[in-house]
Amino acid sequence: MNDKIASLIKLQDFDSQLDALAQSKARLAPEKENIQSQIQSLASALEEAKKTLTQTQVDRKNLELDVDTKEQAIRKFGNELNSVKSNDAYKALLSQIDEAKKAKSQAEDQVLEMMEKIEKLQRDSKEQDKRFQQDKAAFEKQIADLDAEEQRLQGEWDQKKKERDDYFQTLPDDVRTPYEYRTRGKKRDAVVAPIGVNNTCGGCRTKLPPSVVNDVMKGKDLISCETCSRILYIPAKAPAATA
Ligand SMILES: [Zn+2]
Repeated sequence: MNDKIASLIKLQDFDSQLDALAQSKARLAPEKENIQSQIQSLASALEEAKKTLTQTQVDRKNLELDVDTKEQAIRKFGNELNSVKSNDAYKALLSQIDEAKKAKSQAEDQVLEMMEKIEKLQRDSKEQDKRFQQDKAAFEKQIADLDAEEQRLQGEWDQKKKERDDYFQTLPDDVRTPYEYRTRGKKRDAVVAPIGVNNTCGGCRTKLPPSVVNDVMKGKDLISCETCSRILYIPAKAPAATA
């Protein structure tokens, strides 16, 4: 094979590998973001549950104050019973005492209900907190693994890029220039293409004229596909398939 073609193929291989590494690395960022947002939504749910617990505790405190207020009213009315003059006023006070007792009893029932509710919320919240810590640790492990993978890919990319650039420096201008010209703003695999079965261009699949194939076979000059401009070459024979 023509040396120039061999160099171009090698350069294209280098660049394809570099692109593949960069793509693999780029896929990791959204994965990490996805995990971060799962942690975030678990944390929000936990926060909500804690707020509900706090609010219920405040409600309970208020109801207890309410019970105290009713208690004081009952005592006050009770004291006033001793000093009323008329029968009607006495009856009115008794009825007020009765009302206050009912209201107090209702509030006490509500306090009991609320205490049960708080106990349940506290148990749930503790359980949820424990689960959250476990899930968070698992998610953070996943992120750390992705970070490590990202670093590994970056290291591999840096290494390969250096190899590629060092190799590039060893090449003559008549290889570097056409390569750079053809890769400017283009896909990396658009520089060289093997001639495939039935004499088609391995890049764009166009059927090549026999004269073009003949020129490529002579291997003297760089011959391009007229359709896609890739430089054509005859691929090395694939090793015989083993049974
Ligand atoms: Zn082509």
